Amino acid sequence: MKYVKYGKTNKEVSVVGFGGLRFDLTKSNEENAELVKYAYDKGINYFDTAPGYCDDRSEDILGVAFRQLLKEGKKDFYISTKGKPTVYDTSEKAISAVKKSIKRLGVDKIDFYNVWCLRKMEHYELAMKKGGQYEGLLKCKEEGLIDHIVFSSHQPGDEVVEVLNQNNFEGVTMGINILNFSYRWNGVDHAYKNSYGVVAMNPLSGGSIPNHEKELSFLASKGETATQAALRFNITCPQITITLVGFGSKEDIDDACKIADTGKIFNDDDINELKNKLGKDMNEICTGCGYCKECPMEINIPGYMLLYNEKQMFKKTNEEMIDLVYGLEYWNYSSNTKKFAADCIQCGKCQEECTQHLSIMDRLREIAYWEEKGTNTVMI
Ligand code: SF4
Ligand code: SF4
Repeated sequence: MKYVKYGKTNKEVSVVGFGGLRFDLTKSNEENAELVKYAYDKGINYFDTAPGYCDDRSEDILGVAFRQLLKEGKKDFYISTKGKPTVYDTSEKAISAVKKSIKRLGVDKIDFYNVWCLRKMEHYELAMKKGGQYEGLLKCKEEGLIDHIVFSSHQPGDEVVEVLNQNNFEGVTMGINILNFSYRWNGVDHAYKNSYGVVAMNPLSGGSIPNHEKELSFLASKGETATQAALRFNITCPQITITLVGFGSKEDIDDACKIADTGKIFNDDDINELKNKLGKDMNEICTGCGYCKECPMEINIPGYMLLYNEKQMFKKTNEEMIDLVYGLEYWNYSSNTKKFAADCIQCGKCQEECTQHLSIMDRLREIAYWEEKGTNTVMI
């Protein structure tokens, strides 16, 4: 495993981090903890989680693993967890959230605590208000409950720069992958050049990359798959400190560690070549993050936007999209609510929440057309 310094801190972190968002919920916490310990044995020393992840079991699963590791005298790992300024909007609530996470994780302190999910500057301002979350986190830091205060962001690169320039955080966690990196690359570059830690999440674009191996094969070098190229991009880019991978198996861990050990580095020339290959449209894809899902009409927006990726990424024609909505794969997108794109009342709520700033309402209008054309078959 390769290790690098996290920003200006003295912590040497593994370039591959354990993303605690993809545990197998059919298994017990103890069984899932085995995978965490396997990752530790392979040299991964950065573990990321949050309250609410995996039906709110992620912190508990990591807690099982950490207690066992600590019992064996193994203390050389780092924990990252999070709290939202929209939920913990007072100093007291923030302190109590930190203490709760510490208890669940079975440790004495949190190494990296993220002000979670800044999607717009208002969220930052909310965290920083007098008597708000940040004040509580500073108190936790004074008491030794937190080592470093960082933030997680779904903002465009310019806003990431704006937040970093306020100098209140030591690093940033953000969604960066081989398909969408242009969207916030100036934020990544600025962080790197100014010695902030950069933690990349969602390296496989919510599964879009493994699901489109063939179409995305142009991203891969000789002898690798598109998925391996995507992981190599994140793991080897010098600008990215840590890449969080949501592991499903020991083999996934082995693959990521191998890339860290032997993968050819993505340098600036490679990145420029990649930008040319991808073109602008690849910035505008849905990552499946789900932040837009509160819809008054109960439309399955992430499902629909993942469907729209097919047009955005692979330039499918209207006819091809209509064919797609005939298929079972499409039916899965809307079947949970039985609401269709045409049910959208264009209230705009989802667009305000969208982490990628997508034109969701326009896209739904297009999808409604495809649905209308496919109605007879879809409704059977
Ligand atoms: S604009 Fe449409 S899809 Fe978005 S939240 Fe409003 S009703 Fe739902
Ligand atoms: S539409 Fe936007 S907010 Fe919703 S899942 Fe896709 S990227 Fe996330």
